[in-house]
Amino acid sequence: MLFHVVLFGLFSTYVHADDCKLNNVLFNGNYDFFDLAHEFDKHTIYWPNVTAFDFTKKIGISGENNTWYAANEFEAGEHGGTHMDAPYHFYKPGKFVGELPLESLIVPLIIVDISSRVNGDPNFVLYKQHLDYMLNNNDGKPCMIIFKFGWSQFYTDRKKYLGVNERDGTLNFPGLSQEIAEWITTSYKNVVGVGVDVASLDPGSSTVFPVHQQLMAAGLFGMENVKLDTHVPEYGCTGIALPMKIAKGTGGPLRLVAICPKQTPTKF
Ligand SMILES: [Zn+2]
Repeated sequence: MLFHVVLFGLFSTYVHADDCKLNNVLFNGNYDFFDLAHEFDKHTIYWPNVTAFDFTKKIGISGENNTWYAANEFEAGEHGGTHMDAPYHFYKPGKFVGELPLESLIVPLIIVDISSRVNGDPNFVLYKQHLDYMLNNNDGKPCMIIFKFGWSQFYTDRKKYLGVNERDGTLNFPGLSQEIAEWITTSYKNVVGVGVDVASLDPGSSTVFPVHQQLMAAGLFGMENVKLDTHVPEYGCTGIALPMKIAKGTGGPLRLVAICPKQTPTKF
């Protein structure tokens, strides 16, 4: 009996039940919450030939005693604004967006800031040589990686953001190389999703989309048009990527959030 009391006493000094509550950790003032999603409105960026965000004000009625009732409708393509690409988007046996489990939508987040290297060049393509320093730096644990090309600053200027060529309608903005996609799916363990602050994982000039194909065949999801216009720590954040749960969706609008410690670790 005495032994039990001593043992309990030992444990209670080390683990206080209140310290284990997630709420006590998240809301103690030591974390920043970042909203990494662009708003959906008439300026939202969609791929050419996709139905853009069509928002209809349906009802807005004032009643007696200052009461109010309002409701709207919207129509839009799945792949516009800040959105998720489900594996099924480029891989027929892959999961629909509504099937993605929470275990892979709420995971540690690594931000790779290559914006100073890109330096506004719409023809920049990211290769492995740029990133050798971070090989497997997630220690094999599940995580999502978001690449920051520094493109969110152009989001309000569609022509500039997509790099639309007036003569032939082709697009030009930076993106990932196939080599990076292979590296992430073969030698970089347990990455569940990859995001970019441009309109596509593949560079704008791509016509065959090898990065989409490689990542999605390996079961990863994509995140495009991520809003990265403020500094988000490269390590230590938790990514919360919750797309609209469209049952058979190939993708969908995404409210992406990062929760990051104010005392940022320098490593995963
Ligand atoms: Zn997409």
